[in-house]
Amino acid sequence: MALKDKYEAVIGLEVHAQLATNSKLFCGDSTAFGAEPNTHISPITMGHPGTLPKTNRKAVEYAIRMGIACNCEIEKDNYFARKNYFYPDLPKGYQISQHTTPICKGGLVQIHTTTGSRNVQLNRIHLEEDAGKSIHDLDDQFTCIDLNRAGTPLIEIVTEPDIFSADEAWQYVTEIRRLVRWIGICDGNMEEGSLRCDANVSIRLKGDPKLGTRVEVKNLNSIRNVKKAIEYEIERMIELVEAGGTVKQQTRSFDASNDTTFSIRDKEEANDYRYFPDPDLAPFHLTDAFINKLGAALPALPNQLIKKYETELGLSEYDAKQLCDEKETADYFASLIQQTTHYKAAANWILGPIRQYLNEKGLGFAELQLSPNLLADLIKLVEDGKVNFSVASSKLLPVVITENSSPLALAEKLNLIQVSDTNELETWIQEALQSMPDKVSEYKKGKKGLIGLFVGDVKKRSKGKADPKMVTQLLEQHLNN
Ligand code: ADP
Ligand code: MG
Repeated sequence: MALKDKYEAVIGLEVHAQLATNSKLFCGDSTAFGAEPNTHISPITMGHPGTLPKTNRKAVEYAIRMGIACNCEIEKDNYFARKNYFYPDLPKGYQISQHTTPICKGGLVQIHTTTGSRNVQLNRIHLEEDAGKSIHDLDDQFTCIDLNRAGTPLIEIVTEPDIFSADEAWQYVTEIRRLVRWIGICDGNMEEGSLRCDANVSIRLKGDPKLGTRVEVKNLNSIRNVKKAIEYEIERMIELVEAGGTVKQQTRSFDASNDTTFSIRDKEEANDYRYFPDPDLAPFHLTDAFINKLGAALPALPNQLIKKYETELGLSEYDAKQLCDEKETADYFASLIQQTTHYKAAANWILGPIRQYLNEKGLGFAELQLSPNLLADLIKLVEDGKVNFSVASSKLLPVVITENSSPLALAEKLNLIQVSDTNELETWIQEALQSMPDKVSEYKKGKKGLIGLFVGDVKKRSKGKADPKMVTQLLEQHLNN
């Protein structure tokens, strides 16, 4: 039996998402990324004695939004706890977090893998503040500390041990990133550290209901690294166990230069953080009305839209998923289908020529300077057979965007209206057939595939204006008589 079939990997992920609030979780300091080090550090951030923290309402709202989007139960009676530990980048000597009352409990995240869709069970989502940043590579002798990030609001999204491969972990983090961006609570930017992931990995014999000993790989800062670290760990553990060893509970780190992990410390038993309720922060109660209002303001979620577009608009699953990859794209599509009922064509235009146009310009959908009603007009021109698709997408579209005016008027002005007038087409057809008598006789002897060549030649003679459907029909009439 292959080793891969003998063992099963079990993975639980902890994802930290930086909430996109302007100010920190307990004070008015800015959370802007990339500022001069140690410029956003009021006495509250620094944890000076006598300062009083005050909870940022937006951060609480954002956490609830994520909880509702993930079907969690929202905790109504909340308090913040101090999690005590010493860290150089945590000046207070404790982190303000949640302990027995995470703001969101349970819940699930739907992932799509090659074998279908599945729900990953969540354990909780809780609110906490971030620590500062230690910088080890700036000075030869000293570690530098930038405390700008200290106190930035985070949610920590913790799964149950309910992920079973590196690929599923990849899908899960991808889905979390899409979701936080979709509901506007986090920019999802992993390079800037807005999303960071710790991966807990264990293996067990297939069929064994007991969990194996886990290691925790800390601070993975890209989706690729999440996958690589897990792949490496699974292989390492299987080799270890096969060689007669046992997995030790460890905290490990990922080395992106060679896709391996290394131990930072052994974790013999659970840390004792001496949690206790923060006496400076009053417990807070959430009412049903408050929670329901936040739920009502949530946009339709990607997985709901995908289903709706498949069933109500008849789009393929592939197209529906592509359209819902990013909120901006989905929003544009949603406006577009208010203006046209050619749904399939609308999807094709967005996923084809429009996306290509934006890629070439290095723009996103939010920056597309084309109103959905002009695009709907353009789609209608093509669907009505007035302009053919390739002319419309390559020649007409860029002009419609720059001129910002009626596609029909522009098509007329630029002489792009498709010719379906038989008399006009006949001239080009005669010319085409006369120019290739050999091919014509080959066709007549049975080489029917040559029809494409004739159509292409007519199209060229018409400078792309000949209606290909008409041309094909007329050509067939000529050649088959
Ligand atoms: P801690 O507080 O030490 O980080 P938790 O019990 O909160 O521990 O678990 C953290 C994460 O580890 C969760 O995502 C959980 O699902 C996962 N986890 C726990 N035990 C295992 C295991 N044996 N194998 C894989 N993942 C695990
Ligand atoms: Mg942990």
